[in-house]
Order: sequence, then structure tokens, then C-alpha cells
Amino acid sequence: MDIEVYTYLVRPDTFGIWNHKEVRERLSWYYSVMKKIYPPRYLIAKYTPAEYTREAGLDELLEIHIRTRKDFEKLLRDVVNGERLDSLEKPGKSFLDLKIDIAYKLLENCGLCEWNCRINRLAGRRGVCGLGREAYIGSAFLHFGEEAPLVPSGTIFFTGCSLKCVFCQNWDISHHAEAGVVADAHRIAEVATELADSGAKNINYVGGNPDQSLHLILESMRYLDRWIPQLWNSNMYMTTEALELLLDVIDIWLPDLKWWDDSHAFAYSRIKRYREVVTRNIKMVHDHGADLIIRHLIMPNHVECCTLPILDWIAENTPRALVNIMDQYRPEYKAAKEERFREIGRRVTREEVRKAMRHASRLGIVYEPIS
Ligand code: SF4
Ligand SMILES: [Zn+2]
Repeated sequence: MDIEVYTYLVRPDTFGIWNHKEVRERLSWYYSVMKKIYPPRYLIAKYTPAEYTREAGLDELLEIHIRTRKDFEKLLRDVVNGERLDSLEKPGKSFLDLKIDIAYKLLENCGLCEWNCRINRLAGRRGVCGLGREAYIGSAFLHFGEEAPLVPSGTIFFTGCSLKCVFCQNWDISHHAEAGVVADAHRIAEVATELADSGAKNINYVGGNPDQSLHLILESMRYLDRWIPQLWNSNMYMTTEALELLLDVIDIWLPDLKWWDDSHAFAYSRIKRYREVVTRNIKMVHDHGADLIIRHLIMPNHVECCTLPILDWIAENTPRALVNIMDQYRPEYKAAKEERFREIGRRVTREEVRKAMRHASRLGIVYEPIS
């Protein structure tokens, strides 16, 4: 069946979503790339020259990255004003190449996420996320269950995760880094190309979590040429160095914001400094001017302590974000069977959902078209 017809049958809301003025305005870059008005950012990065040598150290490369970003942003503005990328020469070394080289350097003493394991993943050592040098794809398919503006989404599930949520729906790939098929940069690009050619509206890097595989995902963009938005669907526990690499090449962000109280984040996601790190990163994405949909999963018994303050934070700090307030939590994995996690061993009640939505409405958060 034709993919447009199938989408219309299973997700008719996908077609009406662009009539919402707020959605159209807040996702204007993503919409323009999807409609092929502007090229995706990663293609612009490929046409931005970068001057550096491979011998340069990490600090020097990071400084060059800051400087080259100015040239990238100038080219981005030129493209928006009508400059055509195919009228330009491809540089010997590009802004994308620079990002790839920095990502590999970060891997030698891994600081891709705030666990900061500081091990040499290039030499095959594995950190908390369970990953060494390789990336593994658990599955890849056209996803019809994502937010309406994203459907059908060309989703690539990478294994491994920096969080250890006891309720994880994807625990089989999140907690078992080798549960997929090894994929080098060429293979990731092939998978993305197949998804683009079969009707995906975007390439959705997810997992598990994609952050700890970003070296290979960035490298795969070297071999990708499709005019399709790049979407980063992440737990947002990356370091600022990792985030800086992604900011220029990702067209739309889908960050999770789960917990407000750090002791609850530790109890159920086994993570420290959750609030500080994740709010810092989401704010960086927002302040960079990027399109984003923040996902917040309402947890049973955590509306007062987590949901309401998270919504307050969003209203104050990321007012341009669309928000998906998710009510579909169901206990899975350890939360489904272990007595010590009884507090989150049920679905959320209607009253909990109503309370969250009422609060979001009072704050003027735009969530209804997306949730
Ligand atoms: S990406 Fe993995 S190895 Fe690197 S710091 Fe994070 S958990 Fe540790
Ligand atoms: Zn809580």
C-alpha cells in the first residue's frame, strides 16, 4: 500500500497537525526541511570548510569548532536567503569532518555523557553504557506511533543507554549493549537511506539512547545525501562537548525530561545529577534556536514532586518548546515485578493526568496538539 495512504489510515492526525499555527511556527525549520524548502543542517555542515590538521589536540579542535561554527551559521543564513549548495565546491575538510574527528577524540577518554567514564573506548574498553568502539542497531523501521508532525518517522534504535531505568520499555536493547547488529558508519547511512526512500519524514536516532554512538552517527552523515531532517531522540545526559557537536547538524530534537527530584531519578533511573545535566542541555538546545518537542512521561505518584515543577521549569526556561505530556506509562521490566518498586507499579490515574494537563494549561504551555 502507498505509504501516504497507509499513514492517512493509521494516523490521520498527521495531516491536520500543520494547520495548528503554534505547531507550524515552533517547528518552522523542521517543516521547511521536510518540505524541501531548505536543506538539512548536516548537508550545510558538509559544505562549510574547516581548517585543521589531524594532529591537533582536543582543546585546539574544540576552539576551531567554535570558530568554524560562525562560518557554518553564515552559510546557513545564505542558504535561507537562496544560496544553492550545489553551486558550491565541497571543501577538502568540512565542519562535519571536524565534528567526526572531535567525537573520536572524545571516545579515547570517553566523555560523551556525564558518567565521564574516562576510558578508551577506541581501544575496546566499555563504560557504564556498555559500549566500546562499535555501535549496534537493535532495529530500524518506519514508526507510526511518534508525535503527529513526525509520522512516519524513520527510526533507528541504537543499543546501550547511560540511564538504567527500572521501568524501561526497551530494556532488552538499553541494558544489553550487544543486543543488536554491529553497524559501521556506512551501514548506518545505508539504513537511513532506505528509510528516507521508503517515505520517512525524518531520520530518528533513538535507542536505548543514541548519544553514546554519536561518533558513528556523525560519521554516517558523511555517506548520507538525502534531503531529510535529522532528529535526535535522547535522554539528554550527554556532556556539553557532545551536545555542541550535535547542535549544528540536528534539525529537530526530541528530548526526555523525566524527573525533577534527583533522589527519584536515582531511585528509578539509577542516575546522579539528573536535573542539573538534563535541564542544562535542553535549555542549550532551546537557546540555540532549535526546534524541539520535550517529552514528559507522567509517572504514578510523581505528579507533585516531578511533573508540576518540570512544567514550571519548561514554562519559564524553554517557552518556545512544544511539549508532549505522556500518559501511557505502564510498569515494565523491574517495575512490573519487584516489590521495592511498588510505588511505580501501576498506570497513572485519570486524576494525575488531569492535574498535569490543567497545570500545563495554566502555564500557557503548548501541549494539546502534540500529546
Ligand atoms: S558514553 Fe558510555 S563510556 Fe562514555 S561516559 Fe557515557 S556511559 Fe561512560
Ligand atoms: Zn518524583
